[in-house]
Amino acid sequence: MWGRSSFPSELAHFRVSGYAIRFHFTITSVTKVSHHNMYPNTLLFIDGAWSPAASGRTLPVMNPATGEQIGTVAHAERPDLDRALEAAAKGFKVWRKISAFERSKIMRKAANLMRERADAIAPLLTQEQGKTLAEAKGEILAGADTIDWFAEEARRAYGRVIPARAEGVYQLVIKEPVGPVAAFSPWNFPINQVVRKLSCALAAGCSIIVKAPEETPASPAELIRCFADAGVPAGVINLVYGVPAEISEYLIPHPIIRKISFTGSTVVGKQLAAIAGAHMKRITMELGGHAPAVVFDDADVETASRMLAGAKFRNAGQVCVSPTRFLVQEKIYDQFVDAFVGHARALTVGDGFDSKTTMGPLANSRRIAAVQAFITDATQHGATIRTGGNRIGNKGNFFEPTVITDVPMNARVMNEEPFGPLAVIAPFETFDEVVAEANRLPYGLAAYAYTRSARTANAIATAVESGMISINHLGLALPEVPFGGVKDSGYGSEGGPEAIEGYLNTKFVSQAGL
Ligand code: NAD
Repeated sequence: MWGRSSFPSELAHFRVSGYAIRFHFTITSVTKVSHHNMYPNTLLFIDGAWSPAASGRTLPVMNPATGEQIGTVAHAERPDLDRALEAAAKGFKVWRKISAFERSKIMRKAANLMRERADAIAPLLTQEQGKTLAEAKGEILAGADTIDWFAEEARRAYGRVIPARAEGVYQLVIKEPVGPVAAFSPWNFPINQVVRKLSCALAAGCSIIVKAPEETPASPAELIRCFADAGVPAGVINLVYGVPAEISEYLIPHPIIRKISFTGSTVVGKQLAAIAGAHMKRITMELGGHAPAVVFDDADVETASRMLAGAKFRNAGQVCVSPTRFLVQEKIYDQFVDAFVGHARALTVGDGFDSKTTMGPLANSRRIAAVQAFITDATQHGATIRTGGNRIGNKGNFFEPTVITDVPMNARVMNEEPFGPLAVIAPFETFDEVVAEANRLPYGLAAYAYTRSARTANAIATAVESGMISINHLGLALPEVPFGGVKDSGYGSEGGPEAIEGYLNTKFVSQAGL
């Protein structure tokens, strides 16, 4: 069993060994890289203590760069969930009574611990998820910023005073924590997806049960260890892993749970929203997207192609706000395709521990099969592969950064989220035509646009049905800005003051003197 604060120092003794294959688009070389081959077995965190599941059962954890098992994660079942529920109920009573001022101080301490431990936690994230070490460290440091911002916001969960109609009457609007939260987070950003939900809940005065991703369990566990070490009382934060459907179907209807937050696919989100609806539970849903990236013919093609390629292939395309449909105005279409393909080809695909790697493997073998199926379907529909299109090697989940064009509207990739390193580029003629295409799908999470015209920028910002749009730069997902979608991409926000609102009840108090 891991002690509450023992892990970071043990990390310092990791042995370094191993080889990994580095690919320059296709295999070009085999380099020796630092391979941290020690990885912890992740436990549950319930009522302030780390423990195995009551049954002793575990699930295997794989390294997507090697295809090898690197550890295990405890597999929670009903008895563990009941313990977590009881702890969350107890934790809520304690935490809601702690002033926002004190809660904020504890959270900021956790943020600082994250920063101090970033170098120790990043290799765990790279090993279990595949992203490069630089991306992993960036995610951890961004997580610390998220905690800080919500810690500050905790102190500003203001209500208001409404002028009364009668003398001596005070009409007060008070914000109260909604209660114990059940949060479900996915494997693409193991820390970032937990930290947003956790920070909101704690800032608002809620306790929480986090169902973190089974495939990437160690880094979110380290995030939670930072909070525990910072002094969050026992029971306020609980961490479980297991079979996602079993856990959600038990926790969501449970009377102790008052709020649900989920990040994942639209299909699963709709199932969970239905359960939550049947039990009248508050929900925040951050679901899939199919982001249009519109490049008008007055844009700086080099800047647009470079920035959009960076956004597309970050985390190997496994990002809910990843640009997917690149809609480029005819005059600059060929120039954009050439430039974008050039950026895709310049990526170095390999093990995230290799400092030369710019794109790691896909996080699990399901994604290889999924991306391959999208490409096969598209080519069967007449698409042209401009670059990539294939898995690299047969060990680890490496895939070529892929660009396809001439993709008909009925190809699957034009309608379903590819969630991988796959970009579709298509030409358009007019503003109205591109708006119709951008809004054609039921998704509405992120959108991107490039233009030198302020008038066009304003027009596209208004016309696109999305929760977020970033124009002429990449500016989404900071802690202080709203983060969320419309239509099938969900509702509620995971950033900005709007995020905390999802964890607060509004109570109206009307009070007259005796
Ligand atoms: P999936 O749809 O089964 O799972 C997606 C996430 O939801 C996982 O974290 C999983 O643990 C969780 N989940 C699944 N069923 C659940 C349930 N009944 N209750 C609670 N949680 C549940 O499949 P997957 O292969 O892991 O991912 C495939 C798709 O999910 C991707 O193509 C992408 O569209 C979407 N996804 C989105 C995000 C995001 O950031 N919005 C992250 C990961 C995956």
